[in-house]
Amino acid sequence: MFTTRFAPSPTGLLHRGHAFSALTVHDAARAAGGRFILRIEDIDQTRCRPEHEAAIFEDLAWLGLDWETPVRRQSDHLGDYAAVIEDLNGRGLLYRCFRTRREIMEGIGQAPHGPAEAVRPGPHSPAEEARLLDEGRPFAWRLSLDRAREALGAAWTDLAFVEEGTGPAGETGLIRARPETAGDVVLARKDAGVAYHLAATHDDALQGVTHVIRGHDLFEAVHIQRLIQALMGWPAPIYRHHRLLTGPDGKRYAKRDRSQTLAELRTGGMTPQALRVELGFPDAA
Ligand code: GLU
Repeated sequence: MFTTRFAPSPTGLLHRGHAFSALTVHDAARAAGGRFILRIEDIDQTRCRPEHEAAIFEDLAWLGLDWETPVRRQSDHLGDYAAVIEDLNGRGLLYRCFRTRREIMEGIGQAPHGPAEAVRPGPHSPAEEARLLDEGRPFAWRLSLDRAREALGAAWTDLAFVEEGTGPAGETGLIRARPETAGDVVLARKDAGVAYHLAATHDDALQGVTHVIRGHDLFEAVHIQRLIQALMGWPAPIYRHHRLLTGPDGKRYAKRDRSQTLAELRTGGMTPQALRVELGFPDAA
């Protein structure tokens, strides 16, 4: 059955851009007579707040959406992700990375806050790793592209996904996945024991998500997510990426634009019907 999800992170209040995305996902499920799942992606416990989670429920209910319950909150299921890490590690696909962000960036000649680039620091030497472990230093688990490629064999070159929407550069149709563009991604963060790509792909598989519908900002994420699915034997969902909403200044909405939060719009007297129409959706009523 057509199953899709809206998966916000409660790191701030939802804004117009989130409303556009949530309505796109919800209306697609409706149109297909399928399921709409809401998932709370809160593994980053330093940035996520319970009050933002509460606001998500309130805002989406105000928008007129209804979702299946119980809602999966990722921080309640860290054991599930740890089991996947253990599995991948048992197959020799991961390596420990003790490096700080600064060390990594310096290693590839970039400023720590510069644009992200494929990072492949590689494993530490066994002696260094033993010493760092001994010192009790925190580490992340990275996925080794080399070992993943070996593990997949011929299937590596066949890795592909179906994009029913468009990528930011108009990419559509059957697209070859290029996980090498992502580098050796962190699958378990030092602080959280899991990272976004792993938690999201795990949950999409667990929840039977057939269609991943989300903004262009996550289009590039498919390359590595498709690899994780293949390594874990999880089904490949179909993707539909949508444009990002921009404000009058041509910039995309961000969590810092307080005036564009759904909470503020609501307080200012906007109705959900008016917002729907303004965002280009047919009036639900
Ligand atoms: N939690 C992610 C975000 O808020 C979305 C994840 C996804 O749709 O795959 O950006």
